[in-house]
Parts: sequence; C-alpha cells; structure tokens
Amino acid sequence: MTVIAEKIAALRKTLHEHNHRYYLLDAPIISDQEFDQLLRELQDLEEAHPEFYDPNSPTQRVGGGVTKSFETVAHRFPMYSLSNTYSKEELEQWEERIRKIIGPQEEIEYTCELKFDGVSVSLTYENGALIQALTRGDGTQGDNITTNIKTINTVPLKLYGDYPPFFEIRGEVILPWEGFHKMNEERAQKGEPLYMNPRNTASGSLKLQDSSLVAQRPLNCFLYAIAGDQLPVKTQFEALEKARSWGFKVPESAKCVQSIDAVFDFIQYWEKARKTLPFEIDGIVIKVNRFDYQQELGFTAKAPRWAMAYKYQAEQVSTVLKGIQYQVGRTGAVTPVAQLEPVIISGTTVKRASLHNADQIEKLNLHLGDQVFVEKGGEIIPKITGIAAPNPGGEKVNFILHCPECSAPLVREEGEAQHYCKNEISCPPQIIGKIQHFISRKAMDIEGLGGETVVLLYQEGLIRRIDDLYRLNKDQLLPLERMAEKSVTNLIEGIEKSKEKPFDKVLFGLGIRFVGETVAKKLAKRFGSIDSLKKASLEELIQTEDIGERIAKSLVAYFSDPKNQDLLSQLQIFGLQLELKLTTLALHSQFSGKRFVVSGVFESFSREDLKKEIEDLGGIIASSISSKTDYLVAGEGMGPSKKAKAEQLGIPLLNEQEYMQLKQ
Ligand code: AMP
Ligand code: ZN
Repeated sequence: MTVIAEKIAALRKTLHEHNHRYYLLDAPIISDQEFDQLLRELQDLEEAHPEFYDPNSPTQRVGGGVTKSFETVAHRFPMYSLSNTYSKEELEQWEERIRKIIGPQEEIEYTCELKFDGVSVSLTYENGALIQALTRGDGTQGDNITTNIKTINTVPLKLYGDYPPFFEIRGEVILPWEGFHKMNEERAQKGEPLYMNPRNTASGSLKLQDSSLVAQRPLNCFLYAIAGDQLPVKTQFEALEKARSWGFKVPESAKCVQSIDAVFDFIQYWEKARKTLPFEIDGIVIKVNRFDYQQELGFTAKAPRWAMAYKYQAEQVSTVLKGIQYQVGRTGAVTPVAQLEPVIISGTTVKRASLHNADQIEKLNLHLGDQVFVEKGGEIIPKITGIAAPNPGGEKVNFILHCPECSAPLVREEGEAQHYCKNEISCPPQIIGKIQHFISRKAMDIEGLGGETVVLLYQEGLIRRIDDLYRLNKDQLLPLERMAEKSVTNLIEGIEKSKEKPFDKVLFGLGIRFVGETVAKKLAKRFGSIDSLKKASLEELIQTEDIGERIAKSLVAYFSDPKNQDLLSQLQIFGLQLELKLTTLALHSQFSGKRFVVSGVFESFSREDLKKEIEDLGGIIASSISSKTDYLVAGEGMGPSKKAKAEQLGIPLLNEQEYMQLKQ
C-alpha cells in the first residue's frame, strides 16, 4: 500500500471508531472539533485521490448523493407485519395457540421489545460492510434508500467482531422528539407549516432525493431482527445482543422473560415509562425467543405466528367542539367531521375528528361548545369518544337533512348507518370523486392527469362524466390556468393511452359500489367482457368465487340503470378495453385454475412480474402452502420452513428453469 492509501485507511478506521463511541456507546473520547478536523482531513485526501473511493467511508455520512427515483428491489426475506392485541386475555389466548403447535409441556421464553414508531428498513451487510438498505414497501419489495440510510449516524457502515459474512438486519428509523421539535421550531420561524408527527417526518426524510438534506435530519435507527441463512445464534435475545456487539444500535430495553405474566409486567411498566422516553413507541413487541420454535410456528399470510404486538390504548385529550362539517364522498355518503379547537395529541396537532354518522352524533348528544374527549390511535383519524364537560346553552348538533353540496334530500337506507345524497348526476363532489377514482393509480392510472386537475376541469365545465375525458381537446385546455403546452400534450396523451388499459382496470374504475380491485379482477376473468357481465343474472353472479349477494345486487342495479348503459356504450365507442384481451393470455392448460405459491427471489424476473404472469396464464396465486397448492415456485433464499412443508405435503417444487418449462 502506498503511504496515502495507508493514511486514508487509518483515518477511516479512526473515524468509524469515534463515530461508534459517540453515537452507540455514548462515550466520546475526542471533542466535536477534533472529529470534524479528522473528517475534513479525510475528505481532502479522498478528493485528491479518487482512486481510493470507498462507498462506506465515514465521509459518506454527510451525504451528497442524489437519488432521482428510488429503485424497487425484492426482499430476500419478506418483511412481515405484526398481529395486534390489546389485552392480557388475548395474549394468553395467543400462548394457547402456540402451545398447540409446540407442545403443552414445553417451556416458552419470550423476548419483549419496545415497538418503535418509525419506518421499518432492511439493511444488508456483506463482509461487514453495509451494501444495501431497503424500505419495507409492500413487504415483498421495497425502495432502495441506501444513500440516504448511510447518513444516519447510528447505522454502522463497517461492523466489528464475529458477524456472519452475509446477512440482513431489520430495524426502525425513528426521529426522536427533541429532533422533531427542533425541526418544527425552524419551520415555525420560517412561517412554514409544521410537521405532523415524528413517524411521517422520518418516512418523508428517507424519501428525500438529496442525501445531504437527509444528513441534516436527526434520524436514528434501532435494530430488532436479523435474517440470514446460517445465523450464529439460536434465540431472539441472543440475536439482539450479538447485533449490539457488531456495532448496531439495539436499545437495552429488551428483556427475556419466562411467562405471559412476566410479559404483562413488562407491558405495564412501559405503559407509564414510555412517556419519559426520548422517542415515540406505540406498543410492545413480544417474540417467542427460540428460533427453532419460531420455525415450527411459521407465518400466516400477513404476520409471524411467533410474534405479537401489544398496542397501548390511544392517548385521550379534551378540547372544545367548534362546529360540524359534512363531507360528501364519491358514493354520495355523507360523513360528519367535527371541527375542534386545535389540541396536541401524541405530538400531533388535531383540529378535526371523525364522527362517523348520525347515530354517533345522537349517541354523544353533542352541543356546540362542548368540551369533548378526542382520541388518536396509530394511523386512524382522531375520533370523539365522549363528553368531558357539556355546554348546555350550546346549540344541539342535529344531523343535516339536505346535501350540503347540492341540497338534495339525504336518504338513509334500511340497515345502513350512513346517509347518502342520491343525486349522483349533479352533486359536484360525487361527480368529481367518480372521475378522480377512475383516473387513480389503481384504476386507469392516467399519466399527466391528477385529482386537482379533475377539479379544475369540472369547474370549467369541461367534464361531467368519465367519458367526457375522452372528448377533451387541446383548444379547450390551453386557455386554462396552469395548463402549459407541455402539460396539455401529456394529459391528452395520457388519456389516449388509457384506452389500452386492461378490462379489469376499467371495470374497477367505473366505481360500481362494492366492486374493488380484486373483485373487478375476478369478474373480468370469470365473464371476460362487459357484455356478458351485463347479461349475467343475480344467481350467476353469486355463483362466482368471492362474489356475494351484496356485490351481485349492486352489479345488477348498476347495469339496469339506463344512464350507466349509455356511459358504457360511449366508452365502447371511444375504444376502451371492455373485454379481456386473449391474445397472449390464452388460458394455459397447465396453469388454468391451478394454485401457485411463489417464494424467494428470481434471476430473470421480479416476484411481482412472475405472479402477474401466472395469473395472466390462468393460475391462482396463494400466499401460503396448503394441501390445495399445486405448485411451489421456489427462487433463491426461500424460507426452509416453506420448503419442508411443501415436501411434507408432496407438492411439486419448481425452480426457475422448471417453471419456464412448464410454460412452454
Ligand atoms: P404494524 O405496522 O402495526 O403491523 O407493526 C409491524 C411493524 O412494527 C414492523 O414492520 C416494524 O416496522 C415495527 N416495529 C417496531 N419495533 C419493532 C420491534 N421491536 N420488533 C418488530 N417490529 C417492530
Ligand atoms: Zn349532493
């Protein structure tokens, strides 16, 4: 090695160590100035000698890399969500279910951990160096945010000790309260709107394109699970301790206990103590400690059977009810929303709360000016749970009788809680909502056209119904505000291209009540075209897999309405796909009606593409193996428990090549 190379290597090692001492051990031995000086020295050397570039140099922490769009990458091991409980009884029932599988006499230990409220990430290390960081995404694939993750000081770029040569580690990126409040103070000074809560802010930070901005955000990363093929540990608690010894931030709060009673003590302790934590938690995670038991217990479609989240009851505060607003959705459903004197709940400013429906208002016996209890749990919109102090002189809140948008009388059908405005054809939010639904990502996904533009086009009188989109022309659009030549061209092109969107997307986009994405797919597959769907009788519809009476009735009602018939014939004239294209999709006899489970990672296609192809060929995708499974398509890194189960049930296992052959 040259003198320069040695000098650079030595500086990197020293800086990694000081970083570790400062951020992980909380025991720095040099001052911040000294640290900065060393870092600058290294930066200068690296700049002068770019041949010694190292993606994991301590200089990478300051960021600088810009990610224009985050690449999607399949997870080697899926990232699951957790099942929830709210009571000790439910925990005990969970233990009973565990005992049924691993035996009534076995001693079961649990690791109890805090449930950090942030963004989950999966980090991959090869030979002790961070090589990749992904978001959870949909659990099977996430976004590559490596450049941004490197700026987080508590994420080690180089490991220490006896780490495995290749493994993944999962954790949570969080924004501690102090940093969150500081960021908000700065926002307030600049007169900018405040951040809502630490979790969303953390999540937004990781998606910033400029990593040097991420470096300025006081993010932190706590680790809680390792994943790999041959791990040097046998229990979750050991895994946490090992990870800590390799240089990861693993909070000391985790505890290994021998009974559900002890689990509950832990839960109760943190119920109070969490209020003094410097960051937010939304519960406790309990995991069966032994990995061999975890293997035996396996997973449901969504979550491991060996882990459970205990969620704390949401925090309640009281504030004044100022008024009620009524929102009309695309289906005409009217939702009352309470306007509140702003109040902070779990770090978030709350000004509005959902009241659900007329019954709810009646039950609470609300009067304007009442002091009401407001509760906010996790993702859910805050809700009013009761009255703290009534305001007897205040005006009583009575549910409205007419639509606030179009004055049509509201209707409440038998057995329904919601009131509806039935004026589908001229009630503005319904018209706008239907068109917005049609163009939305999961439906027609029209490029160049967003929800705001739909509102604008509606206000300008250019669209009243979905088919009006296909009548738009440049001359009408160019004079509009915010409509430059380029955006008009994009919009028109996007609309034109949407004529190629497959039938099931069109069907979903129509917004027929109860016909969601999956139902639309099923119907498209079963009936093949809008014409045969239109002709289907109630009985025929009900006989379709997963279509119940409610959906069937809604379909029949939709197709018997002359207005809808007219709309459909217009769409047909414009050339939208109102039947399945069967060219490439000719049902494949080896696939048709067969149940496939797909696991692992593949070389020549992503897992999502593979699943889509199987479905296109007529196969059915199932998430877990059962005796009904016909094939297990197994990629790299498939879980050993899945494999064992398939073998036990005698289900044929196809590797990538064998799958290709099946397709021939
Ligand atoms: P949920 O999003 O409610 O399904 O909860 C699952 C999420 O909890 C995981 O994806 C993690 O992001 C998060 N989490 C936070 N702390 C932990 C922990 N100690 N162990 C496992 N998951 C955790
Ligand atoms: Zn209305």
